[in-house]
Formats: sequence, C-alpha cells, structure tokens
Amino acid sequence: MLMTCPHCKGRLKIRTSREVTLLTREAYLQCEDVHCAYTCVAIISQVRTIAPSMKPNPLAYLPVSTKRPAAEDTRQLDLLGGK
Ligand SMILES: [Zn+2]
Repeated sequence: MLMTCPHCKGRLKIRTSREVTLLTREAYLQCEDVHCAYTCVAIISQVRTIAPSMKPNPLAYLPVSTKRPAAEDTRQLDLLGGK
C-alpha cells in the first residue's frame, strides 16, 4: 500500500500499527523525506468482500462487493459471443 505525503508528495512509510477492531487498524505513518519528516495517524478498514474466505469467521462479515461494469472499450474482443 502506497500513501503519499500531502506536503512534499514523498512516500509515507507505516512505522507501526495497532488493531482497533477485527476489521480496523490504526497506523502511524512517517514521510521518508528527512527534510519533511511529516508524521500522521491513519485508519485502515476493510470495507467489503471481493472473494469470500474458505475459512470464514462470522464475526468478520463484510458485504460482497458489487461488480462494477467495465468501461466500454471498442478494442476488446467479445469472448462470450455477445452474452
Ligand atoms: Zn513529506
């Protein structure tokens, strides 16, 4: 995961993190540019499921992501015969 520094556009590095809930962590980030040295806290949360677990935990339920329609690309061949 890449996050950029809002001040110098440098790379923010996660220095440490702690679990807040089963699906949320609080991360402490620091800019890698020593002349900037910006430091902040971010919240990282899991918000939806793309592929379900083969070992599901009922306490970790997240709604399944709805598939977004692909952008129309006239160069893309139709492999399913128009279905
Ligand atoms: Zn910075």
